[in-house]
Amino acid sequence: MKIAKFLGNKEIDFVDVKEPSIEKDDDVKIAIQYCGICGSDLGAYAYPPLVVPSNLSKGEPPYAQGHEFTGIVVEVGKNVTRFKVGDRVTAEPLMYCGECEECRSGHYNVCEQITCLGYAADGAFAQYIVMDERNVHMLPSNIDFKVGTLIEPTGVGYGAVVDSGLKFQDSCVIFGAGTIGLMAMQTANAIGAKMTIVVDVVEERLALAKEMGATYTINAIKENCVERIKELTGRGADVVIEAAGTQQTFNNAIDCAKIHGTIQVVAMYHQPIVIENQVTFMGHDLTLKMSSAAYNNRFDDILRLISEGKLTPQKLISKEIELDHLVDEGIEVLLKDKTLYKILVKCS
Ligand SMILES: [Zn+2]
Ligand SMILES: [Zn+2]
Repeated sequence: MKIAKFLGNKEIDFVDVKEPSIEKDDDVKIAIQYCGICGSDLGAYAYPPLVVPSNLSKGEPPYAQGHEFTGIVVEVGKNVTRFKVGDRVTAEPLMYCGECEECRSGHYNVCEQITCLGYAADGAFAQYIVMDERNVHMLPSNIDFKVGTLIEPTGVGYGAVVDSGLKFQDSCVIFGAGTIGLMAMQTANAIGAKMTIVVDVVEERLALAKEMGATYTINAIKENCVERIKELTGRGADVVIEAAGTQQTFNNAIDCAKIHGTIQVVAMYHQPIVIENQVTFMGHDLTLKMSSAAYNNRFDDILRLISEGKLTPQKLISKEIELDHLVDEGIEVLLKDKTLYKILVKCS
């Protein structure tokens, strides 16, 4: 089968490899239909790759990237009960042990050995993949293969807001109108936030934020966003979601939170960040939390919210390309054009 191996240092090799096969009785083999290109794939491609070594790593690097995918079940191991050949599915890309204290308490997303497809095993920029049944989820009939690829990134934004403890009628500021930021904004609206304020520097992104339900948008180049947030909220934001990933947005997040507010960071920083405004940070008794793939045991809720139209990630699909053009029409284009959201790679 065809697979796109990521060699590091902006190099991806399209190679023919043996199709993966069912190894365990709990395995499900999936013919991949679409796989979305994630910001973290771009990050690894353009910056030093994020390495997540673990005892659970499979095979030998280099690995193919890709962890936001949908497909059709083509074979199941003999213990698989929830799926049969022909089922339409998506999957959680996390690889976890299932035995450590975190796994046993339901927090398998922070398993002591946590790792992820595309970082420590071949991901889904390929034609087939084999997954443990526990990772696989059925797609509802009204979610197609394209929209289904958005469930994983939606889960990252959803998980950040749920983990922040945002309550009904809280105000929520979101820095970064990318995929994660916008799905966090819609989640905050679904929970019943009093207002959602999205801050970015790209007008097209702010326009989409508005279209998808943001109460207010702020262009941080044109306005002093901290002042404007204070004006809109009165005392500052109850919850700030930092989904932009720069020192400036991190500083702004601290400055615009209310006393006792919470800052939930869900961005990946490509350089170390510091707490520059420590007087505010300490003096306001702020809470700083971080999360990444906080969608443990939450995929079913997310699938339902999308199915019911309460979350609309389908608006984030910018275009579709063939696997052979992953680099020239996909990754390289996304690195340059910040008005684009998801490019979906057709894998079958
Ligand atoms: Zn992702
Ligand atoms: Zn574990």
